Amino acid sequence: MQLDELSQRLVSSSFPKLSGNVYCIGRNYSEHIKELKNEIPSEPVVFLKAPSSLRLLTEGGIACQGESFHHEIEIVLLVGKHCKMGTKASEANIGGMTLGLDLTRRELQNELKAKGLPWTLAKSFQGSAILHPIQAKPEALAIDFSLSVNGELRQRGNSQDMIFNFEAILNFLLKYQDLHPGDLIFTGTPSGVAGFKEGDRFHMHSAALKIDASGVL
Ligand code: MG
Repeated sequence: MQLDELSQRLVSSSFPKLSGNVYCIGRNYSEHIKELKNEIPSEPVVFLKAPSSLRLLTEGGIACQGESFHHEIEIVLLVGKHCKMGTKASEANIGGMTLGLDLTRRELQNELKAKGLPWTLAKSFQGSAILHPIQAKPEALAIDFSLSVNGELRQRGNSQDMIFNFEAILNFLLKYQDLHPGDLIFTGTPSGVAGFKEGDRFHMHSAALKIDASGVL
């Protein structure tokens, strides 16, 4: 699906259209860092997904269909207005929020990490960034969220448990580039990542974001 069409399906007219930039933060919840035996980072771990990796909850193809992925449920920010590199951003720069799934080819990622190679193809492939439509930013930024797969609760988190909060993430990214309206930022996943394959049914929930929605991989 082209970016314009995805924007029409995911972003109502009160928000900026998707820019195509998709930033992702890794290792932002300590229990998840422990389960993958990683070290707590001193600054945010940043990687990218290509815009071609974006898809809807309920439709859209996926590459590497025969593989088992890991699901990573995450709060996703939509940048609301232009922030210039080197300036200071605050939560007021967040235009909207939603939940997304950062699909990961974990075995490949581990192999690539062991070789010291970039793990782009473990993270960015068609259908690997699944998004619920963008919601209004809640007043209080204590955001609960959870993911169930085939009826089983797999992951539960709260934005208050993030190592780097929304403002810290925005300001870290602003060291290296402008942030543009419609940029997306996946903010990291809590513990409970596990196997996830084509045909699995999933349910994402957040009372704070008013999300209660199902999809199928
Ligand atoms: Mg992730």
